[in-house]
Parts: sequence; C-alpha cells; structure tokens
Amino acid sequence: MKILVCNVGSTSLKYRLFDLTSGEETLSEGRMERVGTQAGAWSHKNAGQEAVKQTLPIPDYATGIRLMQEALLVKTLDSMESLDCVAFKVVHAQGVTGVQLLDESVLSAMAAFKTVAPSHNPPYIAAIRQFQQALPNTPMIGSFETGFHATMPPKAYLYSVPISLYKEHAIRRYGFHGASHEYVTTRTSELMGRTDIKLISCHLGGSGSLCAVVNGKSLDTNLGFSLQCGIMHNNRCGDIDPYIPIYLMKDFGYSLAQIETMLNKESGLLGMSGVSNDLRDVELAAETGNEDAQNAVDSYCYQIQKQIGSYAAAMGGVDAISFAGGIGENSALVRRKALEGLEFMGVSLDIAKNETAKPDCELTGEGSRARIFAIATNEEIVVARKAKAYLASRTQA
Ligand code: ADP
Repeated sequence: MKILVCNVGSTSLKYRLFDLTSGEETLSEGRMERVGTQAGAWSHKNAGQEAVKQTLPIPDYATGIRLMQEALLVKTLDSMESLDCVAFKVVHAQGVTGVQLLDESVLSAMAAFKTVAPSHNPPYIAAIRQFQQALPNTPMIGSFETGFHATMPPKAYLYSVPISLYKEHAIRRYGFHGASHEYVTTRTSELMGRTDIKLISCHLGGSGSLCAVVNGKSLDTNLGFSLQCGIMHNNRCGDIDPYIPIYLMKDFGYSLAQIETMLNKESGLLGMSGVSNDLRDVELAAETGNEDAQNAVDSYCYQIQKQIGSYAAAMGGVDAISFAGGIGENSALVRRKALEGLEFMGVSLDIAKNETAKPDCELTGEGSRARIFAIATNEEIVVARKAKAYLASRTQA
C-alpha cells in the first residue's frame, strides 16, 4: 500500500512516500521552500540515496506538485495511479475533526475557518485542489490536527465567555499539533515500556504547544480555538491580554488588519527580539549581548516552564516530559531553562546528556522521579497510519 503524505505550509510543501504494505518503509521524501517565488529551494531524497538539492522557480503549488510527481516517477512509483491515497496533515475545519475524505463538504468546512487559521487553511485548500486536479482518481484523505484532543473534558475546552458562544458558534478550545503529540505519546510509552503514564508532551517548532496526556489521552493542551494562543510562536503572539487589541484599536486607531498582521506575523520570537523568527538567530543574538533577544529567549523558556508546572498540577503529578519539534529536539538551552528549578516536583535534567542529545534519547537526571526525553517527532507516519486505517475501514464497510 503506497501512501503519499503531504504537509503544506504557507510557502512550503513537504512530502513523504510510504510503503505500508507489510512494514513501514519510506520510499522517498522531499521538501520545497519559498513556494510562490522564482527562488524556490527543493530537496528530494529516495531511500538509500543522497538527497538532491536545487534552487529553481516554484511559482505555485501546481508547479511544486508537478516537480514532486516527476521525481517520484523516476524511481519510486510506476505511475501516479499506483498511489492508494494522498494524505494531508490538515489543521482546522468548522464542525469537522478526525480522519476525513477531503470532499467538497470538508473543504467548505475548512474554508469556513479561514479566519481562524489564516496561515494554514487557505494554502491547504489551494494545494488540495491542485492535487485533486492532478490526481482525479486518487482519494485525498485529511487527518485533522484537532483529532487527538477530542478526549479533553469540558473543564479544559470551555472558555469563560457566555456559554452561547460555545452553543451557537462552537467557540471552544480545540488544540492542534495532534499528530506530533500522538507520536510523542506512543514513542514515550515505547521508551518507558508502559502506557499508564502522566506525560507532558512539548511540541516546540516554529509553532509550539504543550499537551497533558493521561494514559495516552489528551487531557488538556495550550493551543485553543485558534493557533494564536499558548506559548509564543516564531512570529505569532501566544497568550496575551485580550484587552491589548481593544485598547490599541479604540485609543490609537489601529485597524483590524493591522492588529491581525501584528499578532499573526510580527509577534512571538520575532516581535520580542526584533532579530528573527528563528530561535537559532535569537539565541546567537542573546549570546552577543542583545537584551531584547535575551528577554525573548528567557520569556519563551519561562512560558514553557509555567505550562509544565500547570499541567503537572492538572494531572496530579508527572511521569514523563518529552520534547519534540525543531526546537524541542535541537535546543539544549530551551530544554535546560524550561526545566530549571523543577527539582521540587521531582523533575531533574541530566545537564551533560542534554548538551549532546541526539533524539530519540533519555535525559533524565540523577534522582528524578519524572523521566525526560528528546524525541524526533514523525507526524507523517501518524498521518499515513491513520489514512491506511481509514482506507481499510472503507473497504470493510
Ligand atoms: P515547523 O513548526 O515549521 O514545522 P520545525 O518543527 O522544523 O518547524 O521547527 C523549526 C524551528 O526549530 C525553527 O524556528 C528553528 O529556530 C528551530 N531549530 C532548529 N534547529 C535548532 C537548533 N539547533 N537550536 C535552536 N533552534 C532550532
């Protein structure tokens, strides 16, 4: 069974072709960046071969999809018809979650939430439509990032606003990064040899969220109705006082569009540091004495630390803390500062192991009651497994 998993960003297209017939084999994978420009970057790798990297114009998704198809047909696919499905890690839709066939009704539900997920839904819908045109006979399956959090209880997902907003407009916490939190949960359980754990899963990438997981199920998570809350992100604000926009608009004449751009594109690590939305640049600037960059790094780690403490309280303890995502896997500094001073609650990091961590690995310090891991997340395999299960259930039905 051949499943192509695609992950669409506002300017990127990542893909991985799996053969799930008997095992879980990756046949090809690739990543295109700066889609929509004449200066696109593309890296494609077939199993057992070196990656081929090139810069070339990728003016739109249609071009990106054509390039990807041509590359897959060279070695790993006899024809595009031999694909069993294309599976997408989709973000958000009105009234829809879990695993879905991406038909018109689901695409409309995604379009209905374009205001809620402005950086994700419009490019995803555009890319899915391009795929549908390119591969009209291949099922397109979406695994929604909100799906893993369907187990949250009302006390975790209801907001303290008039209940009519929930009842009439379904305004509630949904949570995101479900594929990564699910992978981290499964992998942490494997590494610990048990599933009955209270886990704090920290997915820290360009966009980040933490999830309190009890016995494999999401109890709470800090992304919400949208992806604009929780800890700060690379250029999104995370939790702020809701009266800041109201004050700026009423007393300083900010427009709605200005506020939206500011919170969505000019805040977070980029906005606080004034340096970059890439934590590596911000860490470097902090090391060389840039005070705003230092405050951004300190604040980022402090927000993660507070969330860890709060989830330990919510779960009545913590057995494991796992870090994943570009930052969680790679930044020793963030892991160290986020866990600093948590010995009082039985969390102690092995500082030396942390500095040289190569995920997947354990970073638990001497005497720590909670075990600590860095995990290389694999959202694509979670999506591929779900698509396979979905196709199997359709065949049986
Ligand atoms: P996305 O959320 O866009 O899928 P990733 O999970 O790949 O992205 O995470 C991207 C982030 O990871 C970037 O902001 C980058 O700063 C960060 N990152 C990657 N490597 C390192 C590193 N060695 N040290 C600190 N941050 C890193």
